[in-house]
Amino acid sequence: MSAMDEFPPATTTTAAGTAPAGTAPAGSTPAGAAARDLPWAALAEAATAAMRKAYVPYSNFPVGAAALTDDGRIVSGCNVENASYGLTLCAECSLVSQLQMIGGGRLVAFSCVDGDGNALMPCGRCRQLLYEFRAPDMLLMTVSGIKTMDEVLPDAFGPQHLADAGRAGAGTTEIGSST
Ligand SMILES: [Zn+2]
Repeated sequence: MSAMDEFPPATTTTAAGTAPAGTAPAGSTPAGAAARDLPWAALAEAATAAMRKAYVPYSNFPVGAAALTDDGRIVSGCNVENASYGLTLCAECSLVSQLQMIGGGRLVAFSCVDGDGNALMPCGRCRQLLYEFRAPDMLLMTVSGIKTMDEVLPDAFGPQHLADAGRAGAGTTEIGSST
């Protein structure tokens, strides 16, 4: 399946609330109808637009990410490299930073693309970043179709473990959603 097959061009770049629902790729998914109702095309377009802002003078491997929040906003991010290579920030880093800066919230759908617009898997660290801000039923567009957060990061460590240990002051329901 080519990138364009997976990510048909969206007809608008406006916020998710006015964006048409995209057509999810065919294929089995545990989320079924819910996945098809998500604006995957708009997310791919937002991710591609973010990708074009990437700062990648060293790898020349731009990445863009976009996600839909539980109240209909689209947040996005691009990778930002650094001369001290190890400090490079993935696109998901700026995505979750933007999310927090514009009021927080939960992510319900996520898409990540490479420089050609092809679906790209979040790296291991970024799966953890996404897990922190996921809605319970968050879905991700991946190289092998739509997946749940649990499928891409099974048995994840998360804020619930700190809460269980009595070390989360605000309680898990507040973590990641402060305004
Ligand atoms: Zn990453």
